[in-house]
Amino acid sequence: MAAHHKARPLKSNSPRPAKQLCSECGLCDTSYIHYVKEACAFLHQQFDALETQTHGRQRTLANENECYFGVHETMVAARKKQPIPGAQWTGIVTTIAIKMLNAGWVEGVVCVQNTPEDRFQPRPVLARTAADIFAARVNKPTLSPNLNLLDEIERSGLRRLLVIGVGCQIQALRAVQKHLGLEELYVLGTPCVDNVTRAGLQKFLETTSRSPQTVVHYEFMQDYQVHFKHEDGSVEKVPFFGLNTRELKDIFAPSCLSCFDYVNGLADLVVGYMGAPLGWQWLVVRNERGQGMLDLVRDELEMQPVTSQGQRHQAVQQSIPAYDQGVTLPMWAARWMGVVIEKLGPKGLEYARFSIDSHFTRNYLYVRRHYPQKLASHVPEFAKKIVSQYRLPKD
Ligand SMILES: Cc1cc2nc3c(=O)[nH]c(=O)nc-3n(C[C@H](O)[C@H](O)[C@H](O)COP(=O)(O)OP(=O)(O)OC[C@H]3O[C@@H](n4cnc5c(N)ncnc54)[C@H](O)[C@@H]3O)c2cc1C
Repeated sequence: MAAHHKARPLKSNSPRPAKQLCSECGLCDTSYIHYVKEACAFLHQQFDALETQTHGRQRTLANENECYFGVHETMVAARKKQPIPGAQWTGIVTTIAIKMLNAGWVEGVVCVQNTPEDRFQPRPVLARTAADIFAARVNKPTLSPNLNLLDEIERSGLRRLLVIGVGCQIQALRAVQKHLGLEELYVLGTPCVDNVTRAGLQKFLETTSRSPQTVVHYEFMQDYQVHFKHEDGSVEKVPFFGLNTRELKDIFAPSCLSCFDYVNGLADLVVGYMGAPLGWQWLVVRNERGQGMLDLVRDELEMQPVTSQGQRHQAVQQSIPAYDQGVTLPMWAARWMGVVIEKLGPKGLEYARFSIDSHFTRNYLYVRRHYPQKLASHVPEFAKKIVSQYRLPKD
């Protein structure tokens, strides 16, 4: 029987015990702040315990796919036969959530709509209808306080819930889930990396896009380019290697620069794109519960096995000092390099490993430099193993 938590009134301007490392997951806006020291992903790294609680075992480090992508039963590339217009990719997340609600698996869904004034300002909601879930489609590519709904969830008396969220939100959720009084909790995760505040997002758009005010959607794609979709439907492509790294280095939230849960290891099912061919989504089924969620929408999906091609190590090793020194290539060189690497570079799961390696080495250096006292306990074993493949600057 779950230990039931009594919601206590909250003072406004609640403190942020993780200070600069706070990812604004929302926990500290609720009475669940009482659990923050154990629950916060940035105060208490506990992947081993939470993986065991969620999946019945820890990831096997000797198995390369598990070390990188977490505990899983299967991985597959998929896309909706009929994509949802306006979704981030083909709308698999929205479809699963609506199906689960309509089929009575859950009575509510935590998802993220936007505010009426700003398409990129996140507004977490406890959706009770398909229309509310549909209105939450597409990424709000900013830190979103999804867990500020915890008191509302408890008050609502819901017994069966689906939470959609990114890694830091889900780590904290898993740590307090036993206090929520739920009979069933399903977690549909997305990978997440390099998130920003709303102000940071503005700086990114203004530094990178030709028309920041008309961007409706963007993604760092597997073809090594950022694709910005504009209001008029046009797509602008900017090569990763042409990004103004020096300007952009400071926009990422410190929480994201010290995160090692890119692949959302504690979700039941993860829906991203980075391990799939361009245009396809990448699904990681972590446990039986996640398998059930995927089976519910299987008829609406085209599927193909995941594949892997190329060799990432050299490209990652070269990118470490380049990023560190904020090197920006002239645009012609960046485009040329983009074309070459797209033809010859890592693809499929190897692209996902390339991206994980690049971010984990960068984040390891960030923690080592800014929070040396946290390095040993904050960096999980799987990340230490991944980072140990590379030569890092000595400082
Ligand atoms: C901030 C962020 C960064 C991401 N980075 C990567 C990445 O590096 N690699 C990768 O493979 N995939 C990444 N993803 C996942 C990917 O972009 C798609 O969201 C995913 O493939 C689902 O696409 P879809 O069309 O099925 O989603 P849709 O059906 O459009 O649904 C999107 C869902 O995202 C939720 N959401 C929106 N904004 C947020 C937010 N700020 N925090 C939490 N949940 C939110 C909404 O509730 C909605 O249900 C990221 C997602 C987010 C939110």
